[in-house]
Amino acid sequence: MSQGTEGRSANGASQLSMPEAPPSSDFIRDIVAADLNSNKHGGRVVTRFPPEPNGHLHIGHAKSICLNFGIALEHNGVCHLRFDDTNPTKEDVEYVESIKEDVHWLGFDWGDKLFYASDYFARLYQYAVQLITDGKAYVDSLSADEVRIYRGTLTEPGKESPYRQRSVEENLDLFARMRAGEFAEGTHTLRAKIDMASPNVNMRDPVMYRILKASHHRTGDQWCIYPMYDFTHCVSDALEGITHSICTLEFEDHRPLYDWFLDELHTPCHPQQIEFARLNLTYTMMSKRKFLALIEGGYVRGWDDPRMPTIAGFRRRGYTPEAIRSFCEHIGVAKRNSTVDMAMLEHEIREDLNKRAQRVMAVLRPLRVVIDNYPEDQVEELGAVNNPEDPAMGTRKVPFSRVVYIEQDDFREDPPKKFFRLAPGREVRLRYAYIVKCVSIVKDERTGEVVELHCTYDPETRSGGPMANRKVKATLHWVSATHALSAEVRLYDSLFTTPNPGEAEDFTTVLNPDSLEILRSCLIEPSLADATSGNRYQFERQGYFCVDPDSSPEALVFNRTVSLKDVWAKLEKAQSSTE
Ligand code: ATP
Ligand code: MG
Repeated sequence: MSQGTEGRSANGASQLSMPEAPPSSDFIRDIVAADLNSNKHGGRVVTRFPPEPNGHLHIGHAKSICLNFGIALEHNGVCHLRFDDTNPTKEDVEYVESIKEDVHWLGFDWGDKLFYASDYFARLYQYAVQLITDGKAYVDSLSADEVRIYRGTLTEPGKESPYRQRSVEENLDLFARMRAGEFAEGTHTLRAKIDMASPNVNMRDPVMYRILKASHHRTGDQWCIYPMYDFTHCVSDALEGITHSICTLEFEDHRPLYDWFLDELHTPCHPQQIEFARLNLTYTMMSKRKFLALIEGGYVRGWDDPRMPTIAGFRRRGYTPEAIRSFCEHIGVAKRNSTVDMAMLEHEIREDLNKRAQRVMAVLRPLRVVIDNYPEDQVEELGAVNNPEDPAMGTRKVPFSRVVYIEQDDFREDPPKKFFRLAPGREVRLRYAYIVKCVSIVKDERTGEVVELHCTYDPETRSGGPMANRKVKATLHWVSATHALSAEVRLYDSLFTTPNPGEAEDFTTVLNPDSLEILRSCLIEPSLADATSGNRYQFERQGYFCVDPDSSPEALVFNRTVSLKDVWAKLEKAQSSTE
């Protein structure tokens, strides 16, 4: 079975091998295991991931992808990728391509099982004709408004349409003419003939087809009637021999309809629909429609804006597919809706990047430091560890010279009590280099701002030197002025100020005005000269960063993936200590 076994590499992602440790069980995996035990489907496991190509995928879709592809992989089964492309006015090939890219990037592969609901339009039409012939569907000619009124409410039964009793012959004739393009949009629909008094509104003669004189991205102008989701979905599942049709909870009330269509059509295959809770994350929304509004309103730069919870946004931000998969595994699969803390996702990202991101030194808000007693023209190449978590990643050389830059934050003229970093008269260690002491400061005459520090260094404190182990209270990162590369660094914060932006009536009122901060005069150690889009690093003491696609060797651009402060780990620790 080739599914997912070969790693995909995109944008600097490393090669993966699937599956990792088998996920713990959940109620869906229990159903699949029981079905295998009872040989319900002849030992087959066939799942599908059925996105509508009306936008880019988000982290919620990742949950569904991991579940569907994951279950198939665990049982040597297959998972189909099927585009639910029945709504030509909202769909686009651009989205089809982006969805394929994102599924691959997450580490899954559908092999040759790529399908489109639009490939079934002819068969769906035949099935509709079969239902009409069996007296189970009819052409209705009520207007959309009338249909709504006739449908009734949750507490009142609906009313039968006056067209419900049309003869089979008349229905067949009208449906054929709908297809032939004889009628205007909105004049007729094809409806299933079920029960207008059903307590389940979905069963009150749901619409199966509507007239839409729109060009479809795959079938062009071949059709001017398009099947509705509920009719299309179950038939597509049946045609593909799906065994377990896994979807989100909001489709629970649609299951009787799913089963009704397949029962009435006597399809040889009748997949089992199983619903699970969708993923919600704090401080974000999870809807393609709302994402589109964010993009169209100019609040973000596009689908792949690193602040977006889309797969494309996360990829650009520097999240790894391994971390996203691990997150999806850890959140589990349940039957009750809940909201997952964003800090948990960020925790997974840190865990993964900690293992593999190369450490480098970068100064985001530089403060110039002149080391007065260091020889003018001397440059030393100092050894630095690439990743303390992984000795195999080796070491590199970092140049040191008379003028260096440190972080503005790492100096205080009047240090508060618990500030142990640099201050007048104080000593700190410059990482991999020497202990330096601040002897004087230079201020901008006009603003009073500190613009330069003068220090002296102790030559004996270099690593390997006689005083290498002398203790000081802080170690700072730094870059050499003549060697550093300049770079733009983009810092991100959550897009919204409230944990539940989806609940706001107008999400623009809860947007975080400081979700993006651009620092244009950052300085990076020279080993990053060849950094290319997608490369990931830990900037020591600052967080994890990755190279943005906007970056070039002449103008480096980095995104901060995530800071180092792990709120989630702290929460977990606090929790376990109270247990
Ligand atoms: P959106 O509301 O963002 O447009 P959708 O459900 O309409 O999402 P689809 O393209 O129809 O998007 O979804 C494809 C699959 O992904 C479906 O099986 C759907 O149930 C699943 N899915 C969508 N959102 C989530 C989520 N937040 N959590 C888990 N699964 C999801
Ligand atoms: Mg949808």
